[in-house]
Formats: sequence, structure tokens, C-alpha cells
Amino acid sequence: MSVLQASQLIKRYQLGVHEVNALNGVDFEAAAGEFVAIMGPSGSGKSTLLHLLGGLDAPTGGTVMLAGQELSGLNDQQATLARRRSIGFVFQFFNLLPTLSAEENILLPILIDGKKPAEFKERLDQLIALVGLEERRTHKPDQLSGGEQQRVALARALITQPAILLADEPTGNLDSNTGKAIMELLRRSCDDLNQAIVVVTHDARAAAFADRVVFLRDGQVERRLQLAQDEAPA
Ligand code: ADP
Ligand code: ADP
Repeated sequence: MSVLQASQLIKRYQLGVHEVNALNGVDFEAAAGEFVAIMGPSGSGKSTLLHLLGGLDAPTGGTVMLAGQELSGLNDQQATLARRRSIGFVFQFFNLLPTLSAEENILLPILIDGKKPAEFKERLDQLIALVGLEERRTHKPDQLSGGEQQRVALARALITQPAILLADEPTGNLDSNTGKAIMELLRRSCDDLNQAIVVVTHDARAAAFADRVVFLRDGQVERRLQLAQDEAPA
């Protein structure tokens, strides 16, 4: 069952007198427990697609269904709620709050939801162990390496146990070993939590962790590729 389904997405940006056709009729879906990578040259529409899938921006045409609910049928407030309930976001520039510690940053979505952090202590401890930040819980972002900051951002995206995780170049700023570790964490999260994960990446080594790769070119799907994770060497 697809938890995320988009049909015939069109996105045009108005740049002064110019129109940019960022997406020209893209179909996309991701099922629970499925890891999909979006690849393609710079400017091919990858970030635009991810933003539309996450309801961060509205399409010019076409539809996005999130857990069976059409996003365009919702008002802003309803869309925000649907997003908070179902989606975790990870971006290339980690967007951590500099004055908060690692664990406070991870708990931020809980606070924003008006829930009590104390009720999430067990989940927090599990996640901190999953991303290997046990020794860094009280450190502020500027005391953490790039890889550690990205792991905090990942834990923050996972604290609400979202059905869908969307990540834009999550390994973009990281050295290759740290990038590989982050992709392994995403893969494990997808398998353990039966999450749909969608990752935009330039890096074929990162895309190799996915079940499927969707290649974009000039705002269209150029190719779809099924990968056999079971057969991948360990
Ligand atoms: P990618 O992520 O593959 O690099 P993008 O989705 O960022 O591609 O961009 C697709 C096209 O849309 C590009 O031509 C880009 O310049 C244009 N674009 C993206 N965002 C905007 C925006 N906010 N305003 C105008 N044009 C944009
Ligand atoms: P990784 O590759 O796992 O991201 P690094 O090799 O970059 O880690 O960093 C190793 C250690 O050095 C980290 O545990 C981190 O605490 C510390 N460190 C790295 N960058 C900084 C920094 N800018 N400020 C303070 N400590 C840092």
C-alpha cells in the first residue's frame, strides 16, 4: 500500500517574466517499508519534487496523497497537522537550534506538538543509541562534528515515528564514511519501523541503499530502476 502517492505533478516557478517548468508531469509513489532514492542532474527538479511530496509547497498541477489523504484538499492548518503527524524531514543543512543541546534538539518536534518530553524518554534513549550519540547528549551543535549534527537531525526527524521520512541530500556535506553510516541508519529505520523513506541524492553510493531509484531529467522521470537489496553484498 502506498503511503505517499503523487500523480502528474506539475510545478512552474515565475521568475520575473520567465517561467521555469521545474516539474512536467511526474508520477511517484512510495510504500510502507520502501526506500526510494531520487537522482538526477542539478536543476532536474529533485528538491522541488521532495518539497511537493512533503506538502512544503503546492503543485501547479497534479495531486499528492499522504496516507490516503489528498493534500490539496486541506487548508494550511490541516496540511501542517497532516505533515507533523506523518512526515519527518532531514535536510542537508541540519537546521539545528544552536542554543539547544543535542537531546533538546531531538525533542523539539515533541515540544512543538505540545506533548510532554518525559513521556518520550525511552524513545529518546533508543534513538540516541541508534544514531550513536550517547556521549554527545548535552553537547550544543557547535560542539559536534558535521556527521554528529546530521545524526542529531536524523534522530529529530524520527522521534515522532513518522510513517514517511523525506531527506534532501542527507549525506551532501559529509565525508564518505560518515555518509555511509547515515545511509545505513536510514536503511535500518526503514526496515525496523516499516517507514517509507525518500532520499534525494547526487551520490550513487548513497542511492545503492535504496529499493528503487527514480531518475529525473528536465522535470520528468527519465528512468526507474528496481534494486535488489536482498542480493546486495553485506
Ligand atoms: P534539483 O533539486 O534537481 O537541483 P530543483 O528542484 O532545485 O532541482 O530545481 C528545478 C528547477 O526549478 C531549476 O531550474 C531551478 O532553477 C528552478 N527553481 C527551483 N526553485 C525555484 C524557485 N523558488 N524559484 C524559481 N525557480 C526555482
Ligand atoms: P565524524 O566524521 O564522525 O562526523 P569527525 O571525525 O569530524 O567526526 O570528528 C571527530 C570528533 O571531533 C567528534 O566526536 C566531535 O566531537 C569533534 N569535533 C569535530 N568537529 C568539531 C567542531 N567544529 N567543534 C568541536 N568539536 C568537533
